[in-house]
Formats: sequence, C-alpha cells, structure tokens
Amino acid sequence: MAAPVSVRSGVWGKMERFLSPGKGNGLRARDEIQAGEMIYSSNPIAFCVAQKFLKSTCQTCLCRSECLLRCSQCKSSRYCSVQCQKEAWPEHKRECKCLQRVYPRVPTDSVRLTAKIIFTLLNDPEAYSQELYSISQHQSHLEEMSEEKREGLVQLCSMLKLYLNSDVSQLPSGLDPTSLLARVMCNCFSVSDGELQDVGLGLYPSMSLLNHDCRPNCVMMFIRKKLELRAVRRIQPHEELCISYTDVLAPRVERRTQLQDQYHFLCQCQRCSDDKSDCIMLGGEESSWMVIKDALPHLGTLQKEEKWAELQQACQALIGENCALVPDSNVYMLRVLDSLLDACISLSQYEIALQYGTRALNAYLLHYPDPHPSYAVELLRVAKLQHYSGEVEEAERSFTQAYEVMKVTHGRDHPLVAEVCRKLSECQAERRSLYS
Ligand SMILES: [Zn+2]
Ligand SMILES: [Zn+2]
Ligand SMILES: [Zn+2]
Repeated sequence: MAAPVSVRSGVWGKMERFLSPGKGNGLRARDEIQAGEMIYSSNPIAFCVAQKFLKSTCQTCLCRSECLLRCSQCKSSRYCSVQCQKEAWPEHKRECKCLQRVYPRVPTDSVRLTAKIIFTLLNDPEAYSQELYSISQHQSHLEEMSEEKREGLVQLCSMLKLYLNSDVSQLPSGLDPTSLLARVMCNCFSVSDGELQDVGLGLYPSMSLLNHDCRPNCVMMFIRKKLELRAVRRIQPHEELCISYTDVLAPRVERRTQLQDQYHFLCQCQRCSDDKSDCIMLGGEESSWMVIKDALPHLGTLQKEEKWAELQQACQALIGENCALVPDSNVYMLRVLDSLLDACISLSQYEIALQYGTRALNAYLLHYPDPHPSYAVELLRVAKLQHYSGEVEEAERSFTQAYEVMKVTHGRDHPLVAEVCRKLSECQAERRSLYS
C-alpha cells in the first residue's frame, strides 16, 4: 500500500478527501479499485471493549475466555496474559485511576471511549497527524438533536466529568466534554469480530469521512481492533466511497428513520429513490407480515435473555401461522427464521437448525446483490451444520461459497477465512475417504 500522506494534502493511498455534492465532506477513489481490494486499514485512535464483554474479553488482543487475569487496581480490566497486561499499561494507566474512582460502577461504552480519546490527546497531541480528519473537525449535530437526546447527553456528560475528575480541566482547547461526547457518538464505529458479533467501540477518525449509501460499494471488517476497508465491487476513478451506516436488510422507511434519528439526514441514495427492493422485502400479505413485525420486539427480548426454548416455540408458531401468506424472503419472516436458527443452535438441535438455516439462506440470496459479510456468515453457519449432519458434499459447496464471498468482504488474510479453508480441506479429505 502507498505511504500515507498527512491531513493537509487530504490523500491516503488509493483514496482522497473531496466535497461530495449535497453531502459535504467525503472520500473518493483516486484510481480504479477492484472488488476485494483493501483501500485503507488502521488501528483506532481509541478503543473500548463493550460493557457486556468486559468480564470475558482481553482488553489488548480481544480474545475471549472465562478465566482472565484481572487488573488488581481497578478490578475492571481483564487480560489473557501478563504480556497483554503489560502492553496495555501505558494506555490503561490513566483509565485505571478513573475506574477505581467510580468502582464498582463502570461507565457506559461511549463515556469510557470519550475518556480514552482525551487520554490519547493528552499523551500525544500529534496523534491525529496521520489522519485525513480530526476530532475537532468531526460533526457533533448538537443543534439537530431532539430534547430527549440532549438530556441523555447531559447525563452522560456529568458521568464523564465524575469519571475523569481532575483530567477534564486539561482538555485540548476548543473541546468541551459535551461536544466531544456528541462527536464520539456520531463518529465512533462498532467493532465486530469476523462473525459480526459487536465486541467494542472504536474511533478511526479518517473513516468518519465515509458517507452512507443503502447499497454501499465498500465494507468495513476488523481483525481484532484493526479496521480494514474493502471494495465489494469495482469502483471507478473519482467514484465516491460509501459504507452503510445501517442494516441494509431493512425496508426503505426503516432505514431512513434510523438514519434520520441517529445521523440526522434524509437518505437520497439510488436505492431509496426506487422501491424495487421494498417489493421483495415486504412481499406477501400485509396483514400477516404486520403480525410478524409486531412480534419482533418480544422475540428480541427472549433472545437477549437467552430464553431459547421459549424463543423457539414463539418463532415456530409465528412461522406456522403465517408461512402460507408470507414468503421467506419477507424481511420480517427472515428475522424470525434467523432467531429460530439461533435458538435451535443454542438448544443443540442441529438438524432442525439446518432446515431453517437453509430456508433463510435461500431468502438471503435475493437481498444481497453484492458480496456482503452477513451473507457470508449465514453461509458459514449452514456449512457447519451440513458438515455436522454428515452432508459432506453440501458442506463443501457451502464452505466454497462462503470463501468466495469472504475473500472479497473479509480479505484472504482474515483469521476466519483461514478457518473456512481448514474446514474446506477437512470436507475434501472426508469425501475422498468416503469414495476410496
Ligand atoms: Zn490478550
Ligand atoms: Zn486497572
Ligand atoms: Zn438510502
């Protein structure tokens, strides 16, 4: 990859900063970019592990384990080894004092991330010199915020002040805690593992320049904390680079509402201007899929509380009652199929899981015109179930399909892609021994 150039020139390897008509700041390709090509990669300026994974995740390498070492001073940060703890210390030192101050409370993710950004700026005021965009240029959208949101922000801000105590007086000039928190909330990214489970929050300042499109030409994936931006289809010179800020597998009205609430703009992308994809996503009898749609929050609660047997029962009832009038490709039906798949896997009922997984996969295929990580992860789940059930040839086919998608979305060097390759050779060896 070409050497990065500084903030001032606005150029970084294959991409450059530009003014996107109607959108403001943006990033575009300097030359043609091929599908699967990595455009940008970066470690975060600041990162924090999500609250619900604090006890089970190493702060440094993000590996998961139930028996981790605990920082003896703050009793909150956990590490898989002495080496990981040592590596984290220079960065953890200030945070450790803050965590001790509020113990046993642990502030929310956005508060802890904001504090970490402040520590980074205090430790190294030049931390942004390699970025195309800096935190002071980030938008806070304070003016567009609803009264309710602003109140939430005020509460977070008082938590931040309590957490930081004395350090808040040393904030870099022009940055007050409220606007910094607001900027962090609009500009941070959820960091997920290869299977799309969110594990933390990170700030990658240059990537905040990426605008949204409901059919994006780029995706972001992570290897531990490192972000990688890849093209999912061929991109022309000077074409704008876009990612999706929301789940693309949602009808237009849902996408637009979420973008408006969270990012304060009305999406005018190509996909939003015609409703062809809505016809498939909202296929079937409306009165029937409305019943499914209304039941989704309840299913979400059962899933969150890990009440798998209850979830399985509720999903099966919904599918049974509505499958004659609502096709699997309807997004709400698809969400139920997905929840049911989770429930069956958690209950170790792999054969039923495979049945529903296959149904979901066929429907997924209709919704993703470009390689998409969600489709890859679904393929992978079905492939593993097929392998487990002894359907070796089918498993081999699904692993191969997953590999084809993932080499574009995840990149060939991603640890999960290495796992897919291992599984694929296992299947091939098993098939050879079956026929020999
Ligand atoms: Zn570790
Ligand atoms: Zn500590
Ligand atoms: Zn759109």
